[in-house]
Amino acid sequence: MFDTVLIANRGEIALRILRACRDLGLKTVAAHSEADVELRHVALADRAICIGPAPSAQSYLNIGEIIAAARLAGAGAVHPGYGFLAESAAFAEAVEEAGLVFIGPSSAAIRMMGDKVSAKRAMIAAGVPCVPGSEDALPQDGAAVRATAAAVGYPVIVKAAGGGGGRGMRIVREEAALAEAVSLAREEAGRAFGNPEVYLEKFLEHPRHVEIQVLADRHGNAVWLGERDCSMQRRHQKIIEEAPAPGIAREAIAEIGDLCAEACLSISYTGAGTFEFLYEDGRFYFIEMNTRVQVEHPVTELVTGIDIVREQILIAQGEELSFGQQDVRIRGHALECRINAEDPFSFRPHPGRVERWTPPGGPGIRVDSHLYGGYTVPPHYDSLVAKLLAYGATRAEAVRRMRGALAEMEVAGIATNAPLHRILMEEPGFAAGGFDIHHLERLIEGGLLEVRGGDDAG
Ligand code: ADP
Repeated sequence: MFDTVLIANRGEIALRILRACRDLGLKTVAAHSEADVELRHVALADRAICIGPAPSAQSYLNIGEIIAAARLAGAGAVHPGYGFLAESAAFAEAVEEAGLVFIGPSSAAIRMMGDKVSAKRAMIAAGVPCVPGSEDALPQDGAAVRATAAAVGYPVIVKAAGGGGGRGMRIVREEAALAEAVSLAREEAGRAFGNPEVYLEKFLEHPRHVEIQVLADRHGNAVWLGERDCSMQRRHQKIIEEAPAPGIAREAIAEIGDLCAEACLSISYTGAGTFEFLYEDGRFYFIEMNTRVQVEHPVTELVTGIDIVREQILIAQGEELSFGQQDVRIRGHALECRINAEDPFSFRPHPGRVERWTPPGGPGIRVDSHLYGGYTVPPHYDSLVAKLLAYGATRAEAVRRMRGALAEMEVAGIATNAPLHRILMEEPGFAAGGFDIHHLERLIEGGLLEVRGGDDAG
């Protein structure tokens, strides 16, 4: 089996993967862009290879260069992290064809779950509850589209089959607006995702986002590792995640978790994955599967004690899972605040040189970050610079620890959204838990940030 892993990513997740590799005694190759020479994992890896200029299209998305780097360095496996090529079936296939191990599911599984229409079809077949909607991509015939929408019932949401990143969705509240929404959505989807197919779903008005983490090996074993509540979002981007999901009965979670583990077997899924659900009025509705490690995976690591990245690598090495469902225990409560290099009030990205970085510590605190004093955050990539996690025996203890950690943490030189997190940790709706995915946007519209607009502490 492989003894060297090429890390086809950057930032905190590249460092996270490097740490898991070291833990397993594996060598690492950092494949990085010209703009990322200063990254922490580039300095720490056994070997670093520049795969192209700063723009990701020429580096982190350049399949040929990445495979050439893996060959050159004698890497036997490639870890894609999240984002970039992590959910590219073409990349997984190219890795497979080069005789290397892709640390993730097969390209066939990525392809099936990457198309949301085929993913939903597979989930319906596996008995996983989905949002009511069209069973296939919408046809060209306007009357047929109207009939489908009427059968589902307004409001509906038109979504791209190849969509991602919360983009290209349109809510339609009445039939008069349907035809235009569908044709605009098709146009957008074609441009953004290279696939003009769209489908429609019932639009849920006040759902929570609750997702199930799974691990499946190549020997027919699949387990689920509890849930994460990721309802604190702005523009469909998660900002705070937590586990367990407040106020949902364990039996209900177990029921949906078992269905997800069974679904993994029915689609021959291997590796780590996440089934994303909307949860409304006591019911779960599948929306999509992420066929990769997620940003918020450490939340689950804290409450289960299972190292998800390590498990991904072991599964890719052909190992059998060393534990079963009955060994998975959820203990305590964990929270994650995503720290982005952005203005906390306008949300504009704020790259630049980090003058000082003082991560917090103490019981129950974990910081996943590639920051260090003197590091310059480049303007070319995602603005996530740190993930601040707090664990406690109870949710209240985790929140207290998070407040303390946010007070301790110091980033000078760049702006971050830490002030927003400090406000949210005191916010009554957050304190109560169980809010829906529109909670943060409602707060912002209600002036949450204006009151503090002049406060630039931290
Ligand atoms: P993407 O892959 O672009 O992230 P998703 O299908 O995961 O798309 O949906 C992203 C977000 O859009 C969800 O988290 C939710 O906020 C909203 N959304 C998607 N489908 C629906 C729906 N049927 N009803 C209400 N909101 C939805």
